[in-house]
Amino acid sequence: MVGPWTYEDTGKYYREAVKRRPSFSGRRDMLQFTDRLPSTDDWTLPVLLQLNRTLRVLYNGPFNWDAFKKIVMQHILTDDVLDALKALPEDEQIPHLVQLVLDWACWDAPKEGAWPRDLSMRRYFVKWRRCEPFYFEADTHTDEDMERAADLFLDIWMGQSPGCILRQPQVQFGEEKDFPGFTVYRVRDEAVTDAERLAAAQSKELYLNLQARGWAPERMDEPLQVGASVARPAKLPPPAGDIVICGPGMCAQCIKKRYLECRVPQDGGKPRCVACRVHKLGCEHKGKTMDALKKQSLEDDSDSREATPDPSQRSQRSGSESVVSESNKSAALTNASADSVPGPSGGRKRKSQGSRDKQKKAKRARK
Ligand SMILES: [Zn+2]
Ligand SMILES: [Zn+2]
Repeated sequence: MVGPWTYEDTGKYYREAVKRRPSFSGRRDMLQFTDRLPSTDDWTLPVLLQLNRTLRVLYNGPFNWDAFKKIVMQHILTDDVLDALKALPEDEQIPHLVQLVLDWACWDAPKEGAWPRDLSMRRYFVKWRRCEPFYFEADTHTDEDMERAADLFLDIWMGQSPGCILRQPQVQFGEEKDFPGFTVYRVRDEAVTDAERLAAAQSKELYLNLQARGWAPERMDEPLQVGASVARPAKLPPPAGDIVICGPGMCAQCIKKRYLECRVPQDGGKPRCVACRVHKLGCEHKGKTMDALKKQSLEDDSDSREATPDPSQRSQRSGSESVVSESNKSAALTNASADSVPGPSGGRKRKSQGSRDKQKKAKRARK
């Protein structure tokens, strides 16, 4: 990138280009890869650098941003590749462009704490994260220049034997800056509001609660939002006396309704949460004793004290320490996860293609 080719231009060019290569007799769908990928443990830095190089071929090609996004998200970041990347240990060194593409594919908040709604891929990659593509200009570059650059990706696709998206021999423009730790950028905390940060943290908490029960959506259309709260019946004792349970230990109904807490009033009867009473549902807590619930709620409480996001703390930190280099990434990641929510880690959630289109429409509407 970045050049003038749309996704349609790209498809048209490749369909013609294939015909000019008589040696090719494949039956694969255009740009579909049939790689047999390394197993999860084998995604080491050298493998990731190869993937980065393949992404660089596209990033430095004549495609426009929309075409780059579609090719990467649909043809490179297939479910298998994405699963492998999501399974990388948190301290794994990840090349810069691979990391950015992974960030973009998932709902998980960037270091700023949330995705601003109108943040474009271009702005995120180039301005926020300082990942420079090669630019094709109409007055300095010929069609042949652009076709040569596009052919590099065609070579990868046509030459594919198993593993070929990870076997690109030519060093690409800018890839040395993608080596983990090389590119330094500023985390733009000021670009995200505390409300957006809180909504992102809540969305992640809701997702992790669902995930812990095996009910998490594989891909999401929109980030999860806290369910509409119910009015507390007047006959119940005051809320101050409730046993409050958060996290995956909440009753099933409260998790399904996407609440952040499950409140069990202590009114002498069998434990049953407020939401289940209002919705006239059986409550999962009814087989437990009040004492067991109290104990559970205290455990949740100590978990969440360590992990509940505190927006004020976050903005203080951003004032003094605004530059984060990639080499500090593991420290930043640790901070980020401490800022987030209780529950198991590794909740990276894939954005669905539909959601990205929707986001794009929303963006257009605002302009
Ligand atoms: Zn409940
Ligand atoms: Zn309940």
